[in-house]
Amino acid sequence: MKKILIKNGLIVTPYETKEQSVLLTNGSKISDILPRKNARTAKGYETIDAGGGFVMPGFIDTHVHGALGVDALDGIGAIRKIARFNAMHGVTGMLPTTLTHPMKDLLDAVKNVRTLMLGGGVKNGAQILGIHLEGPFFHLSQRGGQPPEYIRPPRPSEYKRYLRDGNKYVRIMTLAPELPGALQLIRLLGKKGIVASAAHSTILYPDFLKAVEAGLSSVTHVYSGMAGFVRIGPYRVPGLIESALVDDRVSCEMIADAKHLPAALMKLIYKMKGADRIRLVSDATVGAGLAEGARFSLGSVSAVVHDGVAMLDDRTAFAGSVTPLDKMFANLIKFVNVPIEDAVKMTSLNAARVLGMDDRKGKLQKGYDADIVVLNRSMEVICTIVAGQIVYKG
Ligand SMILES: [Zn+2]
Repeated sequence: MKKILIKNGLIVTPYETKEQSVLLTNGSKISDILPRKNARTAKGYETIDAGGGFVMPGFIDTHVHGALGVDALDGIGAIRKIARFNAMHGVTGMLPTTLTHPMKDLLDAVKNVRTLMLGGGVKNGAQILGIHLEGPFFHLSQRGGQPPEYIRPPRPSEYKRYLRDGNKYVRIMTLAPELPGALQLIRLLGKKGIVASAAHSTILYPDFLKAVEAGLSSVTHVYSGMAGFVRIGPYRVPGLIESALVDDRVSCEMIADAKHLPAALMKLIYKMKGADRIRLVSDATVGAGLAEGARFSLGSVSAVVHDGVAMLDDRTAFAGSVTPLDKMFANLIKFVNVPIEDAVKMTSLNAARVLGMDDRKGKLQKGYDADIVVLNRSMEVICTIVAGQIVYKG
């Protein structure tokens, strides 16, 4: 495999930002980060010039449904297409994510991800790090863009089938923790090392605390598919939104397309959760990469790309985003005034940590996987490297 030398960029590790340095890869790993003057004798490297831009750990997207007209539930070919689309946007690792669907379709999706992972991944695509099962165990009244006909309560006879291989393939399950039987499922997820994440839920704070005690450690797309406090008589009881923001034991997904959340709410999440407990997710649908006005369906739900986001046909709710992570990274800098090191934690390191992979991913460090994105000064992707292979050059 080629050895790569990346020069002329700010290297955001993200614990520090190194100037006047070069990054070297050898095989699938980062072999060194050196002061520029010490690397003059480096021979036999393919050189990438960052042009004064940024060299960062590749983006990791733990919530991506689709792109270019295909959904992760459409089969292996579709997942390949989504992984290649994401590589063009700087994503080096991703979890294809399911919608509520019949059990057979969800089992097929897990099987397809397994086949791809065992078969060496997707050529010229983001690495498949596992699968995120978003649902089907949700509360109907917070369904958002999830097909309502497939929403159902958790039953061990069903979910044990998804979880048969432990956390080898299923890495995150999003569920409504208030449903009967959900706490039992959360405990089982914990035992298997799978992240239990809450959304599409009506849970209130007292029950949220019980779910966290059972092992709930994450909240999916905070603010979407959930509500704020309710009044019970004269008393205010926090909803899932406030619970997610206030409890340091849970991390949060944030959709930073500047549509799902206006800048003020992104700032609020950043103030409350800090740089270590937020992971940016695209929640990108079939509509990602399609033109404004393009129509598509999520099961029985019709959606349209409108105003730069996926919306239900009747425009009453969002149905996922159409924005990949590179644009969201730029939004963080532009609209939320996040320092670049914090933004890199939120697009890479924190996801690696939640997936238990931060011993090899999410940082630029000697010995870590050579999963790298290079951005120019306008925050556009000019190169994506996955496990030491250049998979995209802009
Ligand atoms: Zn959702």
